[in-house]
Amino acid sequence: MDFVKNTNKVWLFSHFYVPLQPGVQDSILMEKIKVLIVGAGPAGCTCGLLLKKRNVDCLLIDRAVFPRDKICGGGLTPRSYRLLDRLLPSFHYDYNSVNRLKLLVEGKSVFDLHMDHELRIVKRREFDAQLLEEYQKSGGRFANEALAAIEENDGQIVATMQSGRQVACDYLVGADGANSRVRKHLNPLSDHGFLWMEQYGPKSPDNAIVINVSKTYEQGYYYSFPNESYDVQGFGDGNTTPQRFRQVLDAMGCPNLKPKGAFIPRSCDYPLHDHIILIGDAGGFPNRLTAEGLYYAILTAQNAAEAISSEQSFAKVNGKVFAHKKREVWESRFFYSKTGLALLRLLCNHFPGILKWCYNKATTP
Ligand SMILES: Cc1cc2nc3c(=O)[nH]c(=O)nc-3n(C[C@H](O)[C@H](O)[C@H](O)COP(=O)(O)OP(=O)(O)OC[C@H]3O[C@@H](n4cnc5c(N)ncnc54)[C@H](O)[C@@H]3O)c2cc1C
Repeated sequence: MDFVKNTNKVWLFSHFYVPLQPGVQDSILMEKIKVLIVGAGPAGCTCGLLLKKRNVDCLLIDRAVFPRDKICGGGLTPRSYRLLDRLLPSFHYDYNSVNRLKLLVEGKSVFDLHMDHELRIVKRREFDAQLLEEYQKSGGRFANEALAAIEENDGQIVATMQSGRQVACDYLVGADGANSRVRKHLNPLSDHGFLWMEQYGPKSPDNAIVINVSKTYEQGYYYSFPNESYDVQGFGDGNTTPQRFRQVLDAMGCPNLKPKGAFIPRSCDYPLHDHIILIGDAGGFPNRLTAEGLYYAILTAQNAAEAISSEQSFAKVNGKVFAHKKREVWESRFFYSKTGLALLRLLCNHFPGILKWCYNKATTP
């Protein structure tokens, strides 16, 4: 039996403790674990799987019942799926393979790229459920719970679920997406990022990704990602509203169907904490220029698992990603500026080889 840890709690078996302070929780046995991961999207599941591989005691929770919907184009770039394949070699998932990308500026085709390496388009409802299943198959513990509150006492983190269940942990990993409850604990005023909107349109015959950029967009773009049975048509920038999405769809010649929206965070605007780690969208890691989030969800999950299991600081292990986030601010500003778009046209018309090189550099490891 473990014993008294601090003045107000008695520890039992290292997995449960009895709070001794007078109050509501007096008679409740509280679980004690090493790592609590909030959110079972790609970031949370990957982190859980990697911790499990290293025999670190962890519990993964999600408020949703899986399979659940997730608004997302589902595009896995070569660097995303190669990282996933390397970290989780036994994980198999369904996807649509795409080798063609059509780039449009102001609605006019400027570049038709035949990609050397396929892009994999997954249906997030299925992909995320398969990943969670993989975690559970590996013996990982999962609970269908919603995080409601976080308290920190004497270096101990206590998470309270909506059900009233309380869990004490040494590390809390926030993998709870764009509207992260864990990030709000670190910075109640943190920014949600840009709103992106999507709808499922009819499947186009050429199985190509379509991207349109325009000087009227505020650091964003229109896209169409082909799935096996439909195309995901979407748009996001600094001024997205449902009405603006309809206008963009009209301009692209798409019918208005059933749009849905979700945020993509753009910055890591919270103080770093040694024992509360944010990964994936919760940490604001999606790329500011491309909005690619899956690669960073997997990469930061790997870095969190590494930091926890080797007792190093996440700031250090994830240092390259934090440095890149800073560079993305001006990269994104330049790319979407008038000069940036003019340069893009120039490259498309006269130096397509350079553009293909840039594309490969951004999407392959
Ligand atoms: C319109 C759109 C299109 C996109 N297209 C692409 C793309 O093509 N390619 C790409 O790489 N990225 C894309 N992204 C970004 C990508 O979807 C995200 O980066 C990715 O989902 C991040 O994964 P995550 O695990 O961090 O978070 P999520 O996938 O959002 O998972 C978070 C999980 O946390 C759970 N949760 C939330 N709050 C709580 C709580 N309080 N308690 C318990 N559980 C909670 C949620 O139920 C959810 O399951 C797109 C995003 C949007 C909005």
